[in-house]
This record gives sequence, structure tokens and C-alpha cells, in this order.
Amino acid sequence: MKTGILAGLFLFALPAFSGEHALGAHVHGTVKLALAVEANTMDVDFDGPSESLIGFEHAPKSDKDKAIFNGSKNLWEKKLLTILTPAADLGCKIAESSFVQEIEGTHADIEAKAKISCAKNLAGTELKISLIKAFSHIKKLKVEVLSASTTSVEISKPEQTIKL
Ligand SMILES: [Zn+2]
Repeated sequence: MKTGILAGLFLFALPAFSGEHALGAHVHGTVKLALAVEANTMDVDFDGPSESLIGFEHAPKSDKDKAIFNGSKNLWEKKLLTILTPAADLGCKIAESSFVQEIEGTHADIEAKAKISCAKNLAGTELKISLIKAFSHIKKLKVEVLSASTTSVEISKPEQTIKL
């Protein structure tokens, strides 16, 4: 346990910790969204407890579970710009996207990533965030924008517009 990363991995491997919310990053209801803007592209990292995004933390088993998981995955991977919406005149499209469930003991996280590519520069433009509307188990969305400067904002409304 020389570094924080190794300590973190060690804790993940210990079953005793998995039943408690001992892991700082795993707080039910709180989800993180990181947006890194660089000229015409934006890297998106959306990361939180599986419970807060799809309503459960086990691997999808029943048909209902699978429908929920696949619906959320499809929404993120194919229709991301309806829940993370840049101004229409920027000409943005999804260049890459992934939505993965990672199970750690009795808890699980969703790691969703994307790269949005636009015809025009994104810096300083407005982005409508409808993630809480789409994923109703989210209580608090912690947004970090890395653009010309770094800004952090907490969102708890179904839809909110922020500046990139
Ligand atoms: Zn959990």
C-alpha cells in the first residue's frame, strides 16, 4: 500500500469493505460527470454507483434487469446528445461511447465514457445537461468542466444548462 491507487485496489479486494460504503467514490445517489473540452472535442466521463444509474448493483439477470441495462446503455451510446446537448449550431456528433457495469463485491459502478466531436469550437458555449431527468435515481450530479479554466458545479435539477 505504497500509493493511493494501490490502497484503493486493496480495499476493493477486501470483501469486508464491500458491504459498507467505505469507498469514498461510491455514495448512492451521487454521480460524477467530468467534461474535458479541447477545441472541437469533448471527452465525457460519467461515473457513479450502479444503483444510482440503473437501480440495482447486481449483473443484469432477469428480463426486466436486462431491459433496463440495455435501455440505459443504448441511451448513452446512441442518443447521448439528447441528454448531454450542445448548441445545435455546433454540429456535434458522438465519436466514441461506452457504458459498462463494474461489479465490486456487493456493490457495482457504472463507468460511462464518450467523445463528442463538433464542427465548431465548444469552449465558452452552453451545454444542456438532462442526466437527472434520464437517470432518475441520481440525487446529486457533481460536474467538473475542464476547459479554459476548471469549474465545478453541483446539479440536482432534472435539466440544467452550464457553460463550457
Ligand atoms: Zn452500492
